[in-house]
Amino acid sequence: MGSDCLFCRIVAGEIPATVVRETDTTLAFRDIDPKAPVHVLVIPKEHYADVATLAQGDPTLAADVLATSAAVAEDEGLLGDGFRLMFNTGAYGGQEVFHVHAHLLGGAPLGPMLARDLG
Ligand code: AMP
Repeated sequence: MGSDCLFCRIVAGEIPATVVRETDTTLAFRDIDPKAPVHVLVIPKEHYADVATLAQGDPTLAADVLATSAAVAEDEGLLGDGFRLMFNTGAYGGQEVFHVHAHLLGGAPLGPMLARDLG
């Protein structure tokens, strides 16, 4: 994907990020606009647009993203009190950056899963 993709540019080192963990296949860095005391984004280095495309195209890489997320959760001290891991996907999911990323959120009670009742 390369120069058109913000997160590919972070992987390439062209845009700075606060990296908290890196593996051969994944990168974890702090969200620039955190929504919780801990808000880390975990991505595969290879470009996939969203979690469905990733899971269908490379399930092993999808598992790498989960494993890195769990390792960061442990590093950040979140395993005891818990955390939220979510993938916004597509228009209804509110996805803004189309390079798949897991939001790892924690460090305080996060409230209900959705901000409003859709019923
Ligand atoms: P989403 O709406 O799920 O696509 O989330 C995109 C996330 O990327 C948002 O939480 C943004 O705050 C975050 N973000 C955008 N630009 C950057 C950046 N340069 N470094 C870190 N996080 C970013």
